[in-house]
Amino acid sequence: MIDASWIKNISFSDVDVLKVLIKYRADLDPYIYIEDRMYDVEKLDIADDAKPFNQDIINLFLDLDILIEKTNLTKKQREIIHFYEQGLNSEDIARYYNQDQREIEYILDTICKEIKNKNDELWKYYYVYSNYKKVKWNYKKCTKCGKSKPAVEEFFSPDKRNNDGLYSICRECR
Ligand SMILES: [Zn+2]
Repeated sequence: MIDASWIKNISFSDVDVLKVLIKYRADLDPYIYIEDRMYDVEKLDIADDAKPFNQDIINLFLDLDILIEKTNLTKKQREIIHFYEQGLNSEDIARYYNQDQREIEYILDTICKEIKNKNDELWKYYYVYSNYKKVKWNYKKCTKCGKSKPAVEEFFSPDKRNNDGLYSICRECR
């Protein structure tokens, strides 16, 4: 049985992880070449032992693809991601653009930072804004709009003079 536990600990919030996933996708993702990325695990010929591993890998890259799609990237940045997917390395890509290899590595760094930021933003949105009513928070009433909001820095700016360390007026009202 292949040990795939590392996949579960992968975070798109880590620039280095993103870099490895993009740079070495052709080696990591056995289904990268499947047409239209229509992954259908049932139809794939996978040995039973390898199935959980393959499913995790597929899920991982599906999530990554969705995240990349949502990230605001230039045409060239997307093109570079695509080249890596096809198994080209930084040297090949540098030759294609007639650029220095270090410049390509630098662009990849920027790409990964953009993706990380998007990931953090989406996570925050999902967790804090969409889910906050289900989560047990300490609530605090804004003295201006009167709305009760979670007493965290997402909603109230920090203010050391207050006992709870937060402004009495919410961020929206300030
Ligand atoms: Zn308010």
